[in-house]
Amino acid sequence: MRTITIKPKAITHNLNQVKQRAPHSKVLAMVKSNAYGHGVAAVLPALQQADGIGVATLTEALEARQLGWNKTIGLVEGAFSADEWQQAIDHDISCVIHHRPQLEWALQNIPPAGSATRVAWLKYNTGMNRLGFNAEEVLSVAKRLHEVGYQLILATHFANADEREHPLNAMQIQRFSSVLATLQATISPDIQGSLCNSAGVVNFPEHHYDWVRPGIILYGSSPVVDKSAQELDLQPAMDFSAQIIALQTVSANDAVGYGSHWQAQTDTRTALVSVGYGDGYPRVVTGDAYVTVIDADSTQHYRCPVIGRVAMDMIVIDISNALESLALDSKVVLWGDAPRVDEIAGHAGTISYELLCRLSIRPKRVLA
Ligand SMILES: *Cc1c(COP(=O)(O)O)cnc(C)c1O
Repeated sequence: MRTITIKPKAITHNLNQVKQRAPHSKVLAMVKSNAYGHGVAAVLPALQQADGIGVATLTEALEARQLGWNKTIGLVEGAFSADEWQQAIDHDISCVIHHRPQLEWALQNIPPAGSATRVAWLKYNTGMNRLGFNAEEVLSVAKRLHEVGYQLILATHFANADEREHPLNAMQIQRFSSVLATLQATISPDIQGSLCNSAGVVNFPEHHYDWVRPGIILYGSSPVVDKSAQELDLQPAMDFSAQIIALQTVSANDAVGYGSHWQAQTDTRTALVSVGYGDGYPRVVTGDAYVTVIDADSTQHYRCPVIGRVAMDMIVIDISNALESLALDSKVVLWGDAPRVDEIAGHAGTISYELLCRLSIRPKRVLA
């Protein structure tokens, strides 16, 4: 059976790592895209010590409210229509305001005093060039919102925080701090700031401001290019595993799988594992990735390479280095403690975020 096991304790541990790194900031824990594939319902109980959660769509925000999350919810792309703006007000959701139409909705439909929607995350484009007001407009926009009663959090997003030395980082920090200082001096000293995603939390400890917005780090992946999750003392929040459903010995010179891609040099013991790209295991890792086989009594761990093409429903692994007596129902870890999802993402030429988000509905989901 293919199983995705979510580990709430790991998420709480990772959240505490963030809090230790950013002791003076509030934490907006990012749970967009179904909590990076982990399942919002599964992770919210582990995030009770966060100050708020961040999502990308109103549907995600309403789902979190329905699940009983009663603290801050930040909608990081804001409302997509005047109707969504009204719904945000109805459900006490705080919105990003990043362009003119959103500004107009906010000015025409002002939430009642005390509403969480009175807190507006004003997005400033410091160099990512996706969302946000430019330097020339952000001051006047802030003034108008402040005048009608909004409390403002100036927000921006790094384009390259995973690479500490990238020159745009210093530029974005400089632009952000200078505009924030101007807003505080000319409009209100109460205006807050929010700059850092996970990589920013790790790489820019001097620039955490009032709210940090960690995502991937909560799930136990490394957000930076030069340090592994282990080096950052992060625990994987997901164990993705399957089981061996057949054992074979492939004769020398015989090939395995579609395209007869892998050929045995000598007689080779192989095992079939019931998982494939139909579950979200990436097809492109063939020939690079390994899995960990754990024998039935959970004592021995074997590192076994993935051979042959990854198919929709199965993969083949080389079990030459495992016990002769390896049992049919042995557990096979695709990612979790070893290998980490970051390693598989490296083999797949992508980032852990994508592998986590694109798991299919087929694997059974359980809580540790
Ligand atoms: C997704 C997101 C984050 C979190 O990014 P990570 O790299 O996962 O930490 C932070 N801020 C905004 C605006 C986001 O959309």
